[in-house]
Amino acid sequence: MKYPVYERFYTWQGEGVHLGRAAYFIRLYGCPQKCFWCDSAGTWHPEFRPPQVGLYSAQELAEFVRQESPEGAIVVLTGGEPILFDLKELTDALHVLGRKVHLETSGIAPLRGDLDWVTLSPKPFGMPPLREIVELTDEVKIIVHDPSDLDAGLQVLSGLPEEAMIWLHPEWSRAREKDMTVLNLITHAVKQNPRLRAGYQMHKAYRAD
Ligand code: SF4
Repeated sequence: MKYPVYERFYTWQGEGVHLGRAAYFIRLYGCPQKCFWCDSAGTWHPEFRPPQVGLYSAQELAEFVRQESPEGAIVVLTGGEPILFDLKELTDALHVLGRKVHLETSGIAPLRGDLDWVTLSPKPFGMPPLREIVELTDEVKIIVHDPSDLDAGLQVLSGLPEEAMIWLHPEWSRAREKDMTVLNLITHAVKQNPRLRAGYQMHKAYRAD
């Protein structure tokens, strides 16, 4: 099959457990969630930025990865919403290269593919994640734009493995503006529940893509 690719780039992972690791990102096109603060709106919003989407086979994408990043760099499949696609051919091709393959998803469809790491980011105003995706999640990333986002995110995590980490990230405009309502909410939540972790989107602070 051919995958619609909005963009691909080699940089480092800017958040979560794998923060700072060299990472090749493949950003697939298409997402039905329509988050109003989406930082990748070009992947779904036709008026925000005209999509320049290329169609590539799994083998073609694996070859890009091989040529454009060294061995040891992880590959992150993101979007858009990558779980909309059958990822099996792509994850197989990347594994042949010896790469670890990570997925960033809101978990709204069954997973087709073999992933080494699943980051779930539930969206409070979109479709909730499927329980089967929650159950295979390695880490959760809850984006907090408004105080209600925290509870909304936690409420859809039934079935989450005990060892999975739960990050609370201030939505970037809140972080940049140092919105103390949101930042204090995260601080308070982590102090109340040590399973939670205060997070930050480090790449937005200083990474050059
Ligand atoms: Fe954007 Fe992600 Fe929300 Fe889709 S789920 S609209 S890509 S932030």
